[in-house]
Amino acid sequence: QQERYVSLRDKPAESPDGVRVRLTMNAGLMADLPSLESSGAEGVGLFRTELQFLTQSKVPRRGELAQMYSKVLDRAGETEVVFRTLDIGSDKVLPYMKAQDEPNPALGWRAIRVGLDKPGVMRMQIQALIRAAAGRRLSVMFPFIAQLQEFREARELLFREVERERRMGHVLPGEIKVGAMLETPSLAFAPATFFDEADFVSIGGNDLKQFFYAADRENERVRRRYDTLNVSFLNMIEMIVRRCNEAGTPLSFCGEDAGRPIEAVTFAALGMRTLSMRPASIGPVKHLIRRTDLGALRKVIDEARTSGAQSVRPAVVEHLYRPAG
Ligand code: PEP
Ligand code: MG
Repeated sequence: QQERYVSLRDKPAESPDGVRVRLTMNAGLMADLPSLESSGAEGVGLFRTELQFLTQSKVPRRGELAQMYSKVLDRAGETEVVFRTLDIGSDKVLPYMKAQDEPNPALGWRAIRVGLDKPGVMRMQIQALIRAAAGRRLSVMFPFIAQLQEFREARELLFREVERERRMGHVLPGEIKVGAMLETPSLAFAPATFFDEADFVSIGGNDLKQFFYAADRENERVRRRYDTLNVSFLNMIEMIVRRCNEAGTPLSFCGEDAGRPIEAVTFAALGMRTLSMRPASIGPVKHLIRRTDLGALRKVIDEARTSGAQSVRPAVVEHLYRPAG
């Protein structure tokens, strides 16, 4: 199966009507890094840092983390790596953390909420990232930002650490980009300032979809009930694309749906220019983008939306896979 896509590895994900889409990969372990070369990924759009924390019996040490992050940056070379700070709680429980007895962990004390309320571990992690990126570009993304104020606080915390590292005489990163994951509908409706202040935004579609539809991503009974290509969900995606464009802020999509070819071309037709996915999805997504006129697909999507369809999927599938001629 993968053989089919090897010849595409060094070719761009560009549609026949000239739209260039950047395909990056999601990673989280050192073992993922060889895929940077083999998949043709243009960088790491989401590095899930919690995996190092989840696979050890105690909190990893700063030096150990810095060394690992540095190796990731070495391997990525010129391409960008977006490090997501610890995203724990909900479905990701650390073995050495007291389990919080919460009735709704997905809506509970998780991710940036933990990072801001008990900043010790996140600060240590940020110090490790700053040291690893000495003289290079550092891109940090905060998970589960639900409102502007949380983004501001997280960003300030990061720059306080930068200042501290500077005072201690460490070489600082050459450039620092700070972004937010958009995983709750509230952030899509944030004050316009949010989109100006963020250096980039990445849609965490797995969580965004679960909160948009109020349908647990872990619950088999409801997980597949609502289609990603539902008009309502796409309307929100389109709004996020528009708000990012107005602010000139780069936007990507890093949930599982980015790696599904039909979803990926639909997002691209709606204006999304960076998609981050598991490495094995890059070939199939690139293949479909390279044969899909995104302008024509956009018309099909818009027609389906105005026709009162619940989901644009039937129209999109029909358009993409209609017999030639
Ligand atoms: C997401 O929510 O879409 C995402 C990429 O983060 P995770 O799957 O790690 O929650
Ligand atoms: Mg998430």
